[in-house]
Amino acid sequence: MRDADSKSPNAPTHVIVGDGITALAFFEACLDRDIGAVTVIGRNATALGRGAAYAKGAAGKPWRYAYLLNSPADDIDPQFAAWLSQRWRHVCAVMAGRAPDWLRAAAPLVDQGDIYGVNAPREFYGDFMEETAEAIRTALVARGVRVTFLDDTAQALDIGPEGVVLRTAAGRALRADGIDIAPGGPSTLRIEGDDTAFSAPSVFGHEDRIAEHIRRGAEIFCIGGNAAMLDVLRLCQSLIPETALRFVACAPDGAVPAALVPRLPRKMTEPTLTPGHTTAETFLAEIRREIDRAEARGEAMREIRAGFRAHFLDHPLKTYLTDLGEARKVPGALRFWLRGGTRDTIFDLHRLIRTGTARMMTGKVRAVLSHDDGAEVILEDAAGRESRYKTGFVVNCAGAGPGSSFDPLTQDLIEKGFLERRGRGTALAVGAGLSVGGPRIRYLSPAVAEIGGDVMAMPLYDAHMLRQAVARATPTLPVLQTRAAAPPSNVRLL
Ligand SMILES: Cc1cc2nc3c(=O)[nH]c(=O)nc-3n(C[C@H](O)[C@H](O)[C@H](O)COP(=O)(O)OP(=O)(O)OC[C@H]3O[C@@H](n4cnc5c(N)ncnc54)[C@H](O)[C@@H]3O)c2cc1C
Repeated sequence: MRDADSKSPNAPTHVIVGDGITALAFFEACLDRDIGAVTVIGRNATALGRGAAYAKGAAGKPWRYAYLLNSPADDIDPQFAAWLSQRWRHVCAVMAGRAPDWLRAAAPLVDQGDIYGVNAPREFYGDFMEETAEAIRTALVARGVRVTFLDDTAQALDIGPEGVVLRTAAGRALRADGIDIAPGGPSTLRIEGDDTAFSAPSVFGHEDRIAEHIRRGAEIFCIGGNAAMLDVLRLCQSLIPETALRFVACAPDGAVPAALVPRLPRKMTEPTLTPGHTTAETFLAEIRREIDRAEARGEAMREIRAGFRAHFLDHPLKTYLTDLGEARKVPGALRFWLRGGTRDTIFDLHRLIRTGTARMMTGKVRAVLSHDDGAEVILEDAAGRESRYKTGFVVNCAGAGPGSSFDPLTQDLIEKGFLERRGRGTALAVGAGLSVGGPRIRYLSPAVAEIGGDVMAMPLYDAHMLRQAVARATPTLPVLQTRAAAPPSNVRLL
């Protein structure tokens, strides 16, 4: 190890933009760089690793710890699963007596010795990430690297003869020899009328207002049927008894995503795919056949999804389909076919649908109207026919889509031509090794759909994929395990 005195004042300066798990992965990669200083700029850089998804909740709020990771802990990160099981007594103490009853939902897995398989509260993953960030900071400082965390927003980037200069909202101009940008995905798609007395544009950050309506017994209507909708259900369950709950979710297919249920021993589907496809149609037909075969063999969605994820990490899409235009048609279909979510909440949702407390509606919400006593949604069916539905309070859980906006730095990079936006949507393309605008600048977010001319078959939305992408772009970092470590067999930690 180099000691603190070995760094010359002229040693390169590195800057990281963002404070989520991708920024943390870039921070970790600094351990392998010969740099004299690293500055992390994020809206909450001092809590590096938490980002938008794993924030610390406010003490005393009933929904603190209600939001869960969408996958088993070891699918997210085997090291996190180990961390969680080592602190299991503490986790039980924090989660005891909370609504919904997370410990009861986790019990079937815990009783098999499979703490690695639970859907952990997202805040715990944030705790783990923050601890990881602190360990990396300590290691960097021990090597003589100056580490600075700045709570600020990066707004613009210029490349000149003296290097890269980053300008921030607080008026800073930071010169860097290299820069890694990890600003997270684009905003949720806005829908007309989604921010009124009876609607909210997102669940996150609007909980207090939504809670008033849940507590008064209003029907809660979610636009969208994915992860954020499941979070709204958890928010409702944390506030009132299930018997008082009225919950509707509306999605174009009207379907509840499959629950990602871990089994012991862990298994993964091993797809067999043939190269040489010239159209997405034939390749997708082959994938569909592989999924159907896996289902027929009794493999569960967790196993199928994890298997395809691992497969495409080792075999890029271009292995099978060289035409870029055709390859771009693949991720949308895979995202839909391999859709899956939080086991606990999806089981709850099915139970509540059976008792008539919750229901799924089919359609696309075009707009929300606000009346004196509640909201009304304007829906469109697959044939374009319009209908209306009166409800209590509407929460926009639609996710990103055309019309979503990016953070100011991403917008600047697109405008300057450093970062390529694919079509009208939110998909972004970066160069080989995540480079944008030159080899010293790297960019990664869940919106990145193409890296160095490779279309990502499975979207980079999840934590595991993002960390993998950083590891692969940093040759000296060990590539993370694509196959989740097995939990210690039959270990009872309670
Ligand atoms: C609510 C939510 C729940 C999720 N749950 C899961 C899950 O259970 N499992 C899973 O695998 N994935 C989940 N995801 C997906 C998520 O995209 C990834 O897991 C991961 O958190 C993305 O990390 P990131 O660092 O790329 O982005 P983010 O976590 O979005 O972090 C980016 C950070 O950078 C900051 N930032 C943005 N622009 C700037 C700028 N210009 N200057 C300075 N700072 C800036 C933002 O404020 C943000 O805090 C979830 C996402 C969300 C939003």
